[in-house]
Amino acid sequence: MKNILVTGGAGFIGSHLCERLLKEGNNVICMDNYFTGRKENIVHLLSNPYFELVRHDVTFPYYIEVDEIYNLACPASPIHYQFDPISTVKTSVIGAINMLGLAKRVQAKILQASTSEVYGDPVVHPQKEGYWGNVNPVGERSCYDEGKRCAETLFMDYHRQNGVDIKIVRIFNTYGPRMRPDDGRVVSNFIMQALKGEDITIYGEGTQTRSFQYIDDLVEGMIRMMATEDFTGPVNIGNPVEFTMLELAEKVIQLTGTKSKIVHKPLPADDPKQRQPDITLAKEKLNGWEPKVALEEGLKRTVGYFENMK
Ligand code: NAD
Ligand code: UDP
Repeated sequence: MKNILVTGGAGFIGSHLCERLLKEGNNVICMDNYFTGRKENIVHLLSNPYFELVRHDVTFPYYIEVDEIYNLACPASPIHYQFDPISTVKTSVIGAINMLGLAKRVQAKILQASTSEVYGDPVVHPQKEGYWGNVNPVGERSCYDEGKRCAETLFMDYHRQNGVDIKIVRIFNTYGPRMRPDDGRVVSNFIMQALKGEDITIYGEGTQTRSFQYIDDLVEGMIRMMATEDFTGPVNIGNPVEFTMLELAEKVIQLTGTKSKIVHKPLPADDPKQRQPDITLAKEKLNGWEPKVALEEGLKRTVGYFENMK
């Protein structure tokens, strides 16, 4: 039985990861400060004696004996990470330093939940790991993008300088049950608006693209990444099937049968125009990993979750 620390474990992705790690027979310590995470996401795990919940802010040092660390603590939705941008940078950077220090001390493997945002508004398409990105260092998204880029740097330096066994995954837009209904991200926004019969808000023309990955495919990729030997990444984990926001809105309208109408709102600053992962490296290094859940199927499951929440 491994002792595994998941920071940000009460969040959307973290809660699914904790669940899966418990199913595989591990002892899981879930650390969260509940900035965007919710107890409801993990309440069903509390009766499991191998699940421990700790209220803690990752920007403060934390001491524990563990074999593996998944570092997910960080708000991920633009409205949440821009709410207190200084705190977002601290969470990514000081959080990474604290968790890397812990990994070094107890010789744990450590995986960083990085992001496709490290590519910024990419001029290379689709994005391969070797692309260094096109990131505005002084914009409204910078607290998140640059915080995550600096965390990647710290991970690589702890690896090169101190021999820490690190793994970096660059996660592309992921969705599924347990996203917050008020999260502000596009999938939860469109589904909630459709279910309530409200206008569906497309920012800009709706021609910008994203590639949406269902949560189960991501969790599988993260677990396979942690199990690799002599491979640090960074590796892209995402679903390469690309959609415009207009296409996404139309799919949500069709699946929910809503009477909601599409309306257009201003495009947020520095909103990336296109995003699509090249997953060749993931397939090669993660034992043939590839996404299994198509958008339509994943949206159905997510709509079902939000319907039950209403
Ligand atoms: P989320 O907001 O649901 O989860 C983040 C969790 O971190 C929350 O539970 C929050 O309370 C916790 N947290 C935030 N600051 C903290 C702090 N200082 N100390 C302790 N806990 C803290 O978002 P998510 O979608 O589950 O994202 C999880 C991770 O994956 C994040 O690091 C995010 O950057 C990364 N990621 C997510 C996506 C995506 O599409 N969902 C894409 C790329 C990267
Ligand atoms: N978006 C939109 N309507 C919304 C929320 C988001 O059109 O109600 C757009 C947003 O401008 C972006 C895309 O959807 O182009 C994805 O946004 P999200 O915040 O989900 O993720 P990110 O921009 O970080 O990829």
